[in-house]
Amino acid sequence: MLRIPCPYCGERTENEFSYGGEAHKVRPERPEEVSDAQWADYLFLQKNTKGTFYERWVHTYGCRRWFNVVRDTLTNEVHGSYKMGEEPPKVDEKTYV
Ligand SMILES: [Zn+2]
Repeated sequence: MLRIPCPYCGERTENEFSYGGEAHKVRPERPEEVSDAQWADYLFLQKNTKGTFYERWVHTYGCRRWFNVVRDTLTNEVHGSYKMGEEPPKVDEKTYV
């Protein structure tokens, strides 16, 4: 089971958390001015990285706070976590083919 370090509570098991998708996804400033296709891309398309990935998690059965995690999606190794608005930890980013 994945062990996730909540930046507020410390490391806990995966079943206390809920996945929130890709981190650092920027919402269009003026949604009324983008095309339906661009809006659909924003809402439904996410990167499908095989390697280092920045993702959002919420500590559902803990502090209930959102934060970001850096995880290798191939090995499931968690490289760290950080609060919303903070800089991500420096990691040796990997992408597998
Ligand atoms: Zn927490």
